[in-house]
Amino acid sequence: MSGSISAPPTSNAAACSYEPSTLTYRQAREILRDHDVHGPQCRQWLAAAAYLSAGLDDE
Ligand SMILES: [Zn+2]
Repeated sequence: MSGSISAPPTSNAAACSYEPSTLTYRQAREILRDHDVHGPQCRQWLAAAAYLSAGLDDE
């Protein structure tokens, strides 16, 4: 609803246009893996990457 999107979203990319409202560590890991092919243009991937890099130093 934000106007001009040049590339038509695929079925999978539909979820990529918005950030997940709530994230758990486990969800973030799954999102990061599922959306890894989309890269930094994917909001799901970005949110998950930000979440994982934000507060977790132990690995
Ligand atoms: Zn994605």
